[in-house]
Amino acid sequence: MTKFVYDFSEGNKELKDLLGGKGANLAEMTNMDLPVPPGFTITTEACKAYLASGREPAALAAEVDEHLKALEATMGKTLGQSDDPLLVSVRSGAKFSMPGMMETVLNIGLNDQSVRGLAAQADNERFAFDSYRRLIQMFGKTVLDIDGEHFEQALDAAKDAKGTKNDLDLDAEDLRRLVETYKQVVVDHAGREFPQEPREQMDLAVRAVFDSWNAPRAILYRRQERIPSDLGTAVNICSMVFGNLGPDSGTGVAFTRDPASGAKGVYGDYLQNAQGEDVVAGIRNTLSLHDLESLDKNSYDQLMSTMAQLEEHYRDLCDIEFTIERGKLWMLQTRVGKRTAAAAFRIATQLIDEGLIDDAEALQRVTGAQLGQLMFPRFDELATKNLIAKGMNASPGAAVGKVVFDTYTAIKWKRSGEKVILVRRETNPDDLDGMIAAQGILTSRGGKTSHAAVVARGMGKTCVCGAEELNVDTKGRHFTTKDGKVYHEGDLISIDGTSGEVFAGEVPVVDSPVVRYFEGELDLDDLDAADPSTELVRAVDRIMRTADGSRRMAVRANSDTEEDSARARRFGAQGIGLCRTEHMFLGDRRALVEALILADTDEERDRQLAELLPLQREDFAGIFDAMDGLPVTIRLLDPPLHEFLPDITELSVRVAVAEARGEAREGDLRLLQAVHKLHEQNPMLGLRGVRLGLVIPGLFEMQSRAILEAAAAHQRKGGVPRVEIMVPLVGAVQELEAIKEDIIAVARDVRSETGVHLEFLVGTMIELPRAALTAGQIAESAEFFSFGTNDLTQTTWGFSRDDVEAAFFSHYLEKGIFGVSPFESLDREGVGELVRIGAERGRAVRPGLKLGVCGEHGGDPDSVHFFNEVGLDYVSCSPFRVPVARLEAGRANG
Ligand code: ADP
Ligand code: MG
Ligand code: MG
Repeated sequence: MTKFVYDFSEGNKELKDLLGGKGANLAEMTNMDLPVPPGFTITTEACKAYLASGREPAALAAEVDEHLKALEATMGKTLGQSDDPLLVSVRSGAKFSMPGMMETVLNIGLNDQSVRGLAAQADNERFAFDSYRRLIQMFGKTVLDIDGEHFEQALDAAKDAKGTKNDLDLDAEDLRRLVETYKQVVVDHAGREFPQEPREQMDLAVRAVFDSWNAPRAILYRRQERIPSDLGTAVNICSMVFGNLGPDSGTGVAFTRDPASGAKGVYGDYLQNAQGEDVVAGIRNTLSLHDLESLDKNSYDQLMSTMAQLEEHYRDLCDIEFTIERGKLWMLQTRVGKRTAAAAFRIATQLIDEGLIDDAEALQRVTGAQLGQLMFPRFDELATKNLIAKGMNASPGAAVGKVVFDTYTAIKWKRSGEKVILVRRETNPDDLDGMIAAQGILTSRGGKTSHAAVVARGMGKTCVCGAEELNVDTKGRHFTTKDGKVYHEGDLISIDGTSGEVFAGEVPVVDSPVVRYFEGELDLDDLDAADPSTELVRAVDRIMRTADGSRRMAVRANSDTEEDSARARRFGAQGIGLCRTEHMFLGDRRALVEALILADTDEERDRQLAELLPLQREDFAGIFDAMDGLPVTIRLLDPPLHEFLPDITELSVRVAVAEARGEAREGDLRLLQAVHKLHEQNPMLGLRGVRLGLVIPGLFEMQSRAILEAAAAHQRKGGVPRVEIMVPLVGAVQELEAIKEDIIAVARDVRSETGVHLEFLVGTMIELPRAALTAGQIAESAEFFSFGTNDLTQTTWGFSRDDVEAAFFSHYLEKGIFGVSPFESLDREGVGELVRIGAERGRAVRPGLKLGVCGEHGGDPDSVHFFNEVGLDYVSCSPFRVPVARLEAGRANG
């Protein structure tokens, strides 16, 4: 028979699935002989059974009876006993903590009789009635679903009547009257009496915890965080200890090191004569642990040694909740604590130095997302700042600019060289161009899944959202802060997307020390020990070494310039996974490309191609220099040709105006014709990629020749070029075969012309479902595959990225259809499955086929783990993401 109830002494910290996080850790502390008030945990299995059938499982009541009896025996009193009541708390505790879940109810077991018994036992009437009114308040709110406002108002009224703001000024009589008022609130709003029977109180609270698993907010949160919906929650029944017995009692929270900076040394808050959540609810000013030391040296010392013991045992930073009851310390909760990115790195390496963990484990204690955060530019810590608001940290970074309120102004000012911050109540798809033009985005409404937040993260743009204290008046072109200060269009502000802070004026921005480290600008042996970033940089260095030592996949960069390639190499890239060639067709070369597109004879076209050839060759020379000895994958032209021609509307207008004046030029008319001819309804699915190479004679040959000639020159200089020519958007092996033949013919020519014997590979991108499915055939011809997961995501979902992200992804995220955009993090079940199939079928035909991924997923932590799992040889990402990918590739394989 399933066991539904575990005494605290029966569990341990590994049993989080069964006992929830809180229960498992209470059990662990109990078994460490730490002072935990006795209690027991009802398992997630019981919750699941309840949720499945709508009834508590038959065996549960008897098991609870048995454990309650044992608890009563231990404590020497029964639940709610009139002359000396045992009181308990009923605490929810799932595997993951979840907003929307029922909170805790304290002081269960108090009723009109036992409150007097408690008063007599403690010789403290005020305490007893304070506990009782808290019970009715918490029970009313969380079990009976009464709006907490009603209780708050009654409490405020009691304080007002007394002429005080401090709850400690209410005496026993005030609290006794408050209890009566609260009971009436229950009758008025729940339509029933507050239950006097202690066991009924307990059972109802347990059931409310079970039910809260399916509260709408909890469901939504699980969808967004991809927490399975069938885990259920455990319920902890814990005998009460009291921090509200007087000045020698109190409650607090603490961390075993500073979770903000990672600095060694305990850190926490304490509140005298208080219970439960008072310390975090901010009802009175808290004291520091240092103050506690002078108040109650004994308890303080015991707390310190307990924290040390916990760190040693969990081998990590722990956060704890504790209560002191008349000079005796009680532990009420612990868990491995959350921390900032910098703290994560510092603590991980401190723990190595303290001998608690080894390097391999330290690597698992940090994440690529944290490293990414540490690489954003930041506001100078030493600068004086004038904080005007705080919102949510929606997309990291530090941005400074002039306030604008609409897209039109954002674009206009940006064009004239200004930096702007787009300030809106909320954004919608119409604001997209303004968001692109802005340095950063600030909204007063909406959370981390709002349109502004989603789109900004997608663009890598700094964003603070939901700064609710700001009153934004877009029509009046100003916003007002909480204290009434008005900021107008054109005023400078600075926003910190990492902290959510908004500052007046320009705060100086500095490079992150972590980036300076990756750039090789810091001499590790000669850092200023007093500088707080020194320990951080050393920690990053140490962990990166471990990551590089443990990863199987190589990391390459996406880069199409010499500078980017050089930076990528400094950041640790082991080659280029994607060198796009389309940027090489823009700028001054537009005219040549236009002429190429307009050419109506073979000779004309060949002439234009011949002009482009040396320019294109130059482009590659610098990249081969920067990446000497490392593989460089160059993709032949991919985008539709009309991208290189003028905008259809603009050109039509220009031609119409010229015609009206009788000044129309032959060239413009021809150009307009061509633009019309090339115009596509769905360019993403139109004439692009390999299709261009097949339709426009000589184009891919010219590009291949430029690549091979540049490589030959590099080799003649004594360099080592490792060329990989990549054909985009192949869906059928026949497409690739045709192009490959042309490339080989070009290579033969180049060889006889230069006398240089070059090794090179011809491969393809896998970015269409058909390519993944027919990868076996394609591998007959392709010497490598690079999964183009951006296009593969578009073509698998049927999403046109530019159209859908701004238009409706925020809705999808809010509705929980996906937890994260499939363009940010690879959709494993759909797109990932195609990657897996492509890899398997390709390798079945050509064992050892080189497999990589280019596209933004190459720098996304979760996706990197997936690529490691399916056996890719490398990931490629933007130069700036290279360290993140190195770290995650190491963690994935660690
Ligand atoms: P949360 O998950 O919101 O922290 P908890 O179950 O930990 O909820 O409880 C809320 C507050 O009540 C915490 O401050 C906790 O320390 C306190 N608390 C819970 N159980 C007891 C107890 N048996 N005795 C005294 N205080 C308790
Ligand atoms: Mg807690
Ligand atoms: Mg593509």
